[in-house]
Amino acid sequence: MAIDREKATLALDGPVSRVRLVSPARARALEKLGVRTVRDLVTHFPRSYIDLSQVETCATARIGEMCTIRGTVHEIKLKKPRYNLKLVEIALVDETGILMVTAFRQPWLMDQIKAGDGVAVSGKVTFDYGYKRMTNPFIEVIGEGEGPALAGSVVPVHPATEKLTAAWVRRIVANGLEEVEGAFDPLPLGLRLRYRLMSRSAALRAIHFPTTMAEAAEARRRLVYEELLYLELFLMQEGAERAAGAAPCEHVTDGERVGAFAGALPFALTGEQERARDDILEAMAAPAVMNHMLLGDVGTGKTVVAGFALAAAADSGCQALLLAPTEVLARQHAEGLGSLLEAAGVRSALLTGSTAAAERAQITEAFAAGDIDVLIGTHALLSDDVRPVRLSLAIIDEQQRFGVDQRAKLLAKGEAPDALYLTATPIPRTLALALYGNLTLSYIKHRPHDAVPRITRVLPKERQGEAFDGARAALARGEQVYVVCPLVGKGAEERDAKAAGRAGAADAAGEEYHPAVAIEDADDFDDDVTAATKEAEILRSTTFADYTVELLHGGMGTEAKRAVMERFRTGEAQVLVATTVIEVGVDVPNATVMIVQDADRFGLAQLHQLRGRVGRGTKAAEVYLVSASHREESLARLAAMETTDDGFELAAFDLSLRREGDILGNRQHGASGLKLVNIMRDGAVIEAAHGDAQALLDVDPLLQEPDHRAMAREVRLAFAGEGIVGG
Ligand code: ADP
Ligand code: MG
Repeated sequence: MAIDREKATLALDGPVSRVRLVSPARARALEKLGVRTVRDLVTHFPRSYIDLSQVETCATARIGEMCTIRGTVHEIKLKKPRYNLKLVEIALVDETGILMVTAFRQPWLMDQIKAGDGVAVSGKVTFDYGYKRMTNPFIEVIGEGEGPALAGSVVPVHPATEKLTAAWVRRIVANGLEEVEGAFDPLPLGLRLRYRLMSRSAALRAIHFPTTMAEAAEARRRLVYEELLYLELFLMQEGAERAAGAAPCEHVTDGERVGAFAGALPFALTGEQERARDDILEAMAAPAVMNHMLLGDVGTGKTVVAGFALAAAADSGCQALLLAPTEVLARQHAEGLGSLLEAAGVRSALLTGSTAAAERAQITEAFAAGDIDVLIGTHALLSDDVRPVRLSLAIIDEQQRFGVDQRAKLLAKGEAPDALYLTATPIPRTLALALYGNLTLSYIKHRPHDAVPRITRVLPKERQGEAFDGARAALARGEQVYVVCPLVGKGAEERDAKAAGRAGAADAAGEEYHPAVAIEDADDFDDDVTAATKEAEILRSTTFADYTVELLHGGMGTEAKRAVMERFRTGEAQVLVATTVIEVGVDVPNATVMIVQDADRFGLAQLHQLRGRVGRGTKAAEVYLVSASHREESLARLAAMETTDDGFELAAFDLSLRREGDILGNRQHGASGLKLVNIMRDGAVIEAAHGDAQALLDVDPLLQEPDHRAMAREVRLAFAGEGIVGG
């Protein structure tokens, strides 16, 4: 038995190709999903489940509600209602009747499903043209031979690709689980007993192949706790390591450059900004390592506060790094902040993924020689050729976009650098403490121009003219306008539904908690670009014919994007039609009107980020959220945007609306070791894990006791980027 346990434990770190059914081609497809090892495979968690115990029949399925129907494919057809639109239509029958299923932009379903197959579909039921219908439901072929893999009446739906269907992933995962069955459980028994947690083997099996939804939830509970415990252990150990040994820099905070930076600002700081600046400078002056987070809604002016910290680093004869999540944002910091820094005698430079090789070499050399004080950039800063001589400060802007491992990598470039995190994500204090180790915090609650009103209005599509009137009035005053087009494919789907003559099916498409396969898998990106491109064309020749309209989208090259932003910034272009590439950080104070098309396709947090792009100057701003949706839930969400301008309030509202549909939570967090955790929802577990990690390290700081060694290894694997996993 002991031998088996060891074998299973070792198997976790073996290549996925050793698992039955994983051919070289499938291994390549799995790699696309981030799966390289057996461990990756068994932690490739389902993104949803189809609960067959809640199955309705065609007759009992209620119109307007979500349900699962199991039946046999009577007929499957590929249709092309329009030149660039393909849809698959399936007639599904059970003993009570017929359900028509329409799947947009998943033509490959034709290869995967054939008449006579047994399938389960899960989605919202509508009624049109005499039939009950589902548009873009989850579709799963449930083969006869699948037997043992499906333990009960719950079918897991794993993230899949076009090359590797969810059904195949399911089979492969089942085989992977066999390899590691009985593997050693790294979680100490005491903790497992205290919280009544399943063993790891059992939890892995149950989260992939639960017999009931309750069992899946229990499995998730165990695995989430484990992820969080390792995270806490990692943060605490990292913090201790960073504090030990090297002496942190005691920064000079009232030096020449700090003074000059203050003098270079074109405005006076608000009281809150001053307080935040003082908090930060005080922590930098102290002989301990700073770990500070500056929280403030979009547009509250965090950047200039960070500027003071950069100037202080330079005054102290040290260097600093400023990491931003996107090229646009990094460039903007390099221009805006960079020129203020320059005026203060601080030498800064920009490094991004698109910096030409020769220039890059020049910059990294100058930085390594100490001829540059502040290096501003994107992920490029993490690369090994960025070698500061004496790094005393690392700032991470929009830190929620980065993983724990990336943060660690940045900080590792210095001996004991101070760290400053800027974030617009409203996290409660206790969570911030748990998630970022021992942290000091400053909040900026008000935007500098609180006197400047920003009004948000929700308009039904047929009244979008009012939005354009508002925009034209602003243009006439010499101000500028953003027009934002919907997120990847979702909006297009609604239009497609209409184009296909299924008005009314529209609202059933694209439930955000129930994403259709197409959204993830198809090349919807192009449709997104098309939507923005078309909108720009139309506006250019009609509404805004007398102005210069520019287009910005993620598919454009860096240089083209930069040029467009530059023309908009200088006012050469007055209207910017964009996809969500402008979501983060773009700063053009003269832009006062934003029109968001198909606003119901965006999340509240995203809409709030977006509208943060206007109202940044001294002039009143207007935001128009245009939507063709008639769904009550969508309209209630949008109405919240009208009622409050406060990001924290919106976040709370957003949470209260989320249905419990996805028990797996979201997985947007950058940290590779967190696959299941939902930072907002798992607050209580985060706090428990925080306490437990502290207690463990109190008795065994290096996790060297026999009972803890396996756990120490897991921590490194999950977060420190060691071993084959991660990256
Ligand atoms: P965020 O907190 O979202 O990063 P920014 O730092 O980009 O916000 O600042 C938003 C805008 O407000 C910028 O145009 C900035 O120059 C301006 N700003 C910042 N502080 C002040 C201030 N005290 N008075 C006037 N404008 C300010
Ligand atoms: Mg910012």
